[in-house]
Amino acid sequence: MSIVLHGVSAGKGVAIGRARLIVRGFDEVPQRNLAAEEVAVETERFEAAIKATRRQLEQLRNSIPENAPTELGAFISLHLMLLTDVTLSREPVDIIEDQRINAEWALKIQTERLSEQFDAIDDEYLRERKQDMLQVAERIHNNLIGLSNPFKISSDLLNDTIIIAHDLSPADTVHFRDQQITGFVTDAGGPTSHTAILGRSLDIPSVIGLRQARHLISEDEWVIVDGSNGVLIINPDDIVLAEYRRKLREFRTKKRELNKLKDTAATTQDGINIELLANIESAEDIKTLNKAGADGVGLFRSEYLYLNRDSLPSEDEQFAVYSEIVKKLKGKPLTIRTADLGVDKNPRWFGQNGSINGCTNPALGLTGIRLSLAEPVMFRTQMRAILRAAQFGPVNMMWPMITSVEELKQCRIHFETAQRQLTERNEPFGLPKIGCMIEIPSAALTVSVLLKLTDFISIGTNDLIQYTLSVDRGDDAVSYLYQPAHPAVLNLLFHIIRTANRMGKPVSICGEMAGDTHYTRLLLAMGLRRFSMNPANLLAVKDVIIHSHINQLEDELPKVIRNDDPEKSERLLKQLNEIAHHTDTTLKSMLAD
Ligand code: PEP
Ligand code: MG
Repeated sequence: MSIVLHGVSAGKGVAIGRARLIVRGFDEVPQRNLAAEEVAVETERFEAAIKATRRQLEQLRNSIPENAPTELGAFISLHLMLLTDVTLSREPVDIIEDQRINAEWALKIQTERLSEQFDAIDDEYLRERKQDMLQVAERIHNNLIGLSNPFKISSDLLNDTIIIAHDLSPADTVHFRDQQITGFVTDAGGPTSHTAILGRSLDIPSVIGLRQARHLISEDEWVIVDGSNGVLIINPDDIVLAEYRRKLREFRTKKRELNKLKDTAATTQDGINIELLANIESAEDIKTLNKAGADGVGLFRSEYLYLNRDSLPSEDEQFAVYSEIVKKLKGKPLTIRTADLGVDKNPRWFGQNGSINGCTNPALGLTGIRLSLAEPVMFRTQMRAILRAAQFGPVNMMWPMITSVEELKQCRIHFETAQRQLTERNEPFGLPKIGCMIEIPSAALTVSVLLKLTDFISIGTNDLIQYTLSVDRGDDAVSYLYQPAHPAVLNLLFHIIRTANRMGKPVSICGEMAGDTHYTRLLLAMGLRRFSMNPANLLAVKDVIIHSHINQLEDELPKVIRNDDPEKSERLLKQLNEIAHHTDTTLKSMLAD
């Protein structure tokens, strides 16, 4: 009998193969009471396991393969940090001594305690770090039982292996490329877990958060991973198998075709050029940007420079990073967003759990530009670094989470001060173009005033949708209400794009909508000519663009914009996509005739 399970989509595409169960962890922990004289031996054994774990993680960090995702180093460092925390490295020893029990059992007790503490955290991002803690604990446990690499897959495995695990650590996934893993699924993990992020950037079909999958699958059983739709099919019948084999062939052909588009101009069938930019988080990401043939950087999330450290990054430190990126881009534009801190991106000096000074509603609190304006020294330091980097190539500076023209005016005053400070120091600098993000409804509705004070704008749809529909973008419980195609969102988008175009100011979208092919034609019809996205999505979006005819799409737009029924929205959008597709086919066959 075949079983279909639904989870969270991580890496797109289809994989068909035989299940390889990774069984490990705390399922069968030996439990033993100790005699008084055995306690010292047991604590030594535990400490040796901690040392071995540290050695393995350090070794891993030092031997990250070239083709590994850029996030990997940071994830392994996080695991090392968790390992050195007293909660994992010292408190189990106290349990061994106090309760006189063996090390594995003590570690299990401590892990359960920590899990409960993680579960009680409100912030989704921090709550998901529980998986990281469990992965580190599991590694210590494996060292205790003498299983230093339970994940090692023997070379006799065929290429059609699909890994089925409770969870996979970033360290595990390093081996995936070399070992030709076709796909993987896990019981654990949410949409923002590290496993999901890695699945996406490794580009391996994967579904996570399947809860009980591991208990429903037998070793060697045939499974299908539909990573694009977050579906796992266990023991598929012949008809389903044949259908997915067809999909797999289609997917592979499509991918090969897409790669050929790298150097093709993103020009529509009616001759309109579209600019395709990349969203990046570090200088490392320039490699993926170049692979996708992006026209430059539309969003550099600079706040990542502020995370995982105890102090603020200095002007020189930031200048080094920004100028490295500008130089690597060789004349392509770099858009640096000034630090968008707060909510889920909190430096250590902010306090716990996204709560700044005890604020219980951080998304509506001192976040984004509000925080920069409240910390003018930090703000001006960053702007001086950006100004200095601008002497080496085209740089745009963008302010996040602007709500009003007042804020823009204040930003401009600080910007002028930053320039004056550099002049007084005789420091050379260039002048970046100035823009702001439109991601709050008040900014969207007053965009014409904001445009008068800026050279360009970029729409952050991730937050614009969140604030328009009052739906926490990171909360699973309300994710069904997070609707990019909601008429309220579409009307705001259309208003922003149309206003900017009328005023002759460049407008882009740098939220997730820009990289989702489902919305490409709609956005083209609205007048969007600049998209910025995760480089992994760029060629698929380009493919839609070069097969689109904007004039024809524009004819269909009023129907979508005039609709005010959220339930009808998706249907109209589907029609818009289908009409355009149908037209392409007709055009192609006409040309062939
Ligand atoms: C957005 O809100 O759409 C955006 C691009 O910013 P971030 O996702 O970093 O909040
Ligand atoms: Mg945002």
